Amino acid sequence: MCRPSAAIIRSGFAGAVANPRSGYTPPQMPAAVAPAPLAVPAADAPVAGLPGVGPRQAQRLARLGVGTVRDLLFHLPRRYEDTRDVRPLAELHPGEEQTVYARVRNVSSHRSPRKRMVLVEASLEDGGHVASAVWFNQPFLARQIHSGDELLLSGKVKLGRGGLVLQNPEFERASGEQRHVGRLAPVYPETEGVSSRWLRSRIEPLLPVADALEDPLPPQLLRSHDLPRLAAALRQVHFPDDPARLELARRRIAFEEMFLLQLAAQRARRRRLAGSGVAVAYDVEVARRFVASLPFRLTEGQRVAAHEILTDMAGTGSMNRLLQGDVGSGKTVVAAMAALMTHAAGHQTAVMAPTEILARQHHATMEALLAPHGVSSRLLVGSTPARARREVLVGVAAGHDTVLIGTHALIEEAVVLADLGLVVVDEQHRFGVAQRQQLRRKGALAPNFLAMTATPIPRSLSLTLYGDVDLSELREMPPGRIPVETRVVAPHQRPEAYDFVRAQVAEGRQAFVICPLIEESDKLGVKSATEEYERLRREVFPELRVELLHGRMPGREKEERMGRFAAGEADLLVSTSVVEVGVDVPNATIMFIEGAERFGLASLHQFRGRVGRGEHASVCLLFQGSPDEEGSKRLEAVAQTRSGFDLAEADLRLRGPGDVVGLRQHGLPEVRVADLLDTALLEEARRAAGDWLDADPELVTHDPLHRAMNGYRAVFDLD
Ligand code: ADP
Ligand code: MG
Repeated sequence: MCRPSAAIIRSGFAGAVANPRSGYTPPQMPAAVAPAPLAVPAADAPVAGLPGVGPRQAQRLARLGVGTVRDLLFHLPRRYEDTRDVRPLAELHPGEEQTVYARVRNVSSHRSPRKRMVLVEASLEDGGHVASAVWFNQPFLARQIHSGDELLLSGKVKLGRGGLVLQNPEFERASGEQRHVGRLAPVYPETEGVSSRWLRSRIEPLLPVADALEDPLPPQLLRSHDLPRLAAALRQVHFPDDPARLELARRRIAFEEMFLLQLAAQRARRRRLAGSGVAVAYDVEVARRFVASLPFRLTEGQRVAAHEILTDMAGTGSMNRLLQGDVGSGKTVVAAMAALMTHAAGHQTAVMAPTEILARQHHATMEALLAPHGVSSRLLVGSTPARARREVLVGVAAGHDTVLIGTHALIEEAVVLADLGLVVVDEQHRFGVAQRQQLRRKGALAPNFLAMTATPIPRSLSLTLYGDVDLSELREMPPGRIPVETRVVAPHQRPEAYDFVRAQVAEGRQAFVICPLIEESDKLGVKSATEEYERLRREVFPELRVELLHGRMPGREKEERMGRFAAGEADLLVSTSVVEVGVDVPNATIMFIEGAERFGLASLHQFRGRVGRGEHASVCLLFQGSPDEEGSKRLEAVAQTRSGFDLAEADLRLRGPGDVVGLRQHGLPEVRVADLLDTALLEEARRAAGDWLDADPELVTHDPLHRAMNGYRAVFDLD
């Protein structure tokens, strides 16, 4: 149910503002100056022009993504300072962070003798007890604090020569309506010149605007889930009365986020399944012949995935399936089977891959798998010569070529397919949502869609987030693979590692060396491929054949160099992340990764997948460029985890859901408040969305809900 709010509320007791233990009650004083009645601005009004927001401040707010009044209201705190436990001076204890009420007796400022900085000192008293407060380097405070002021002060208590001293305390006049001290005070994402204190003062007067905001969640839904209305939730999130109400407010905002996401996804899914897609009859004989023609037995996972795909494609709606499986788990074979079935039903297949190298490899594989069944595949990439390109275009437009494989080149307008029945996108997270949709739209009817990835997102996330995608997973490797041994190498073991490379090369093997950068940069200690290439071939391995490959080389050259390495004409390939996907050199047995901490876990896992593809035992050696604990932990996780699925879960635990393999890249909208690990809330939202759609499939009963769906058009097909 409710997750404890402790994580976002720092320090303090969960008591009320009036502290029952101290018997202290803050004075209820009328505000000294009655605030001028504020004209309530419109939610879409720009922040520039609000009281106290000039052009410069507006620019700074823009850096925080805040342009309008609405943005400011949705600029949500990341945590809270709890200073509600207000004590009388008599209860100050040295060594603690405390909040006290006191009257200022006297204010003075002087320069500290040794460190030459300005000290502002206030002597404090309350009920016969005295203490003092000191601020360093804030000389202007001497003009802001006056004797006789009644203040709430919050900070660290020290025992000085003259008694107890509050050092650099936060403070605010005690008015009975505290904004900063003596309450649960919001701490916002800040930027230079935009402090939380400043934001509190600007946001509070705008809260009435929230009352006029449209609440996308229908009242009956809020009632049945015991959640507050949007305006009330925003009020509590910015200025909470107590932790319980704050928790409920955050829950409401998180629920809304997940509910709308689920509603959009499930709606897209229902429409997809009910709509007219390309139906590809599941011809068991075709499947059997294909399987019989393979030089190996399918793994259980491949069999199940293929069956799921062929069953989906046979339906009248269109398929939308994601095939997740580690590098080398055999996704391509499954895709080939789907392409063959699509061909047998008289439709075409387009296969898109993120790099030319990968597209060529798929082409070769598909050719090998499908040619025996009378299907030849065509290749279309950026470097395809004009003449060959024309031929391909004519062939697919006329419909006699049924399998087209390529890169982004497939998306171009000139590419017209006569009857597209299946779209396969490999390493789908490498493409934008728009690119994937463009390819799908090349069909007259909605074609079946199969995305593949070797960078799985954790199952705990995918189940709830991929509302409109069905998942197939290849969790086992084909038999006979020797797992790649991964080791984090200490700096002093580097010579040993080089000796190991020499020994392997002497046995006829090859090695990759991956660097974080292409060229030398100011970043001290970060290896670049070009420098490392020079160093290795001149100083370390003058006797070996060293090759260089990076993404800034022309496509032709990249291919030639890759080709030479693949053909065994080079022993070492020094490169960058361009080899992350696709590269298949079974004779390579060493993956050397420099500055490994600079790569994401998923990338490291991909690199590792470049070796261990042949019959020889392989190793992956991780070198840390700049030692830090966080980095070491992540590298250890890679060394100890073999499966990409498990690694994705580890990544989720280490970094939190925010950063996991770019949810956006997977085509998911950013989630701002919802805790993606709060599976109970996600599940509640998922079920609520399904129930709502059962009762109101066209979202006609609550217009704001319908309008809220516009925000998801870029992600899901909602038209
Ligand atoms: P992925 O795309 O998932 O990384 P591939 O489809 O490229 O993996 O397959 C990797 C290699 O494994 C290919 O050489 C393929 O022929 C081979 N392979 C696929 N399935 C099997 C299997 N069931 N048994 C043995 N080898 C297989
Ligand atoms: Mg693949």
